[in-house]
Amino acid sequence: ASKSTGKARYTVFTEQHRRRVIDLVALEADLGKALTREEFSLHFQGIVDVTSGDVVGAEALLRWQHPRRGLLSPADFLPAAEAGGLMVDVGAWVLEEALRQAARWRLVARRDCFVTVNVSAQQLVRGDYVRRVRQALAGSGVPSRSLVVEITESQVLPSSASVLDQLRELRDLGVQVAVDDFGTGYSSLSHLATLPVDLVKIDRAFLTDLADSRRSAVLRSAVEMTRAVGATCVVEGIETQEQYDAVRATGARFAQGFLLGRPRPGYVV
Ligand code: C2E
Ligand code: MG
Ligand code: MG
Ligand code: MG
Repeated sequence: ASKSTGKARYTVFTEQHRRRVIDLVALEADLGKALTREEFSLHFQGIVDVTSGDVVGAEALLRWQHPRRGLLSPADFLPAAEAGGLMVDVGAWVLEEALRQAARWRLVARRDCFVTVNVSAQQLVRGDYVRRVRQALAGSGVPSRSLVVEITESQVLPSSASVLDQLRELRDLGVQVAVDDFGTGYSSLSHLATLPVDLVKIDRAFLTDLADSRRSAVLRSAVEMTRAVGATCVVEGIETQEQYDAVRATGARFAQGFLLGRPRPGYVV
């Protein structure tokens, strides 16, 4: 009996596995057409200055309106896009579209506000990213100070001298560099101190169980670390008033999260 159960389980596994492989291949093929079919869009989530409560900028977050599967989030398709080597082209579109939107907000709001874009390591390794940024900025009329490029801590950690050089070149242009998802990788202070960085985005993992004094002490020290390297702190993923109060008590400058504003298409600033 145990033998036949094992066999059944094996059959189920291979069938699931087979389907997953087919899904991934189909998704990659669809992704290849998504740019020309204009199926990508950006949602924007406001970033709040905690001292004033004002929305001072927004993060651009990629969405894909799939013809059959509906609106997809990055987790559903970024791995396939990375695997298919598509992030250079997709990322270039994100950059241009984010700056187009930012230019519009600046007209309507008549004040300074920044836009942040997530960049994958692939764009910095294979692409001509700095040149693209220079061109996109010139085309949009948005000042370089108002563009923030976010790179995930775990992607910048094993990075080559060339990736670090490009981040420095971006800063020389006046663009700000943010380390994203800080605290999910190795997060050493000595490593952070070597990175060319203006902003540090503290991962929402730091917001769990803040009633526990040890957890709130860890959040405080993460904010302290960003300050120690001269960076400005953004705390991500604030969902409750309690979390927001705790974050404000740390002295962090910026905050972002569902409590303060959900990602949505179009105008947020
Ligand atoms: P991220 O850069 O850390 O972006 C923040 C993510 O947290 C977003 O998920 C956002 O919707 C979500 N979020 C914001 N506030 C809250 C909150 O209060 N609670 C919770 N639970 N989540 C919150 P999203 O849009 O699904 O994006 C996931 C990740 O995909 C992003 O994480 C980013 O690393 C990546 N991504 C998004 N757009 C792009 C892009 O244009 N290019 C690249 N390379 N990566 C992107
Ligand atoms: Mg981000
Ligand atoms: Mg990110
Ligand atoms: Mg993040």
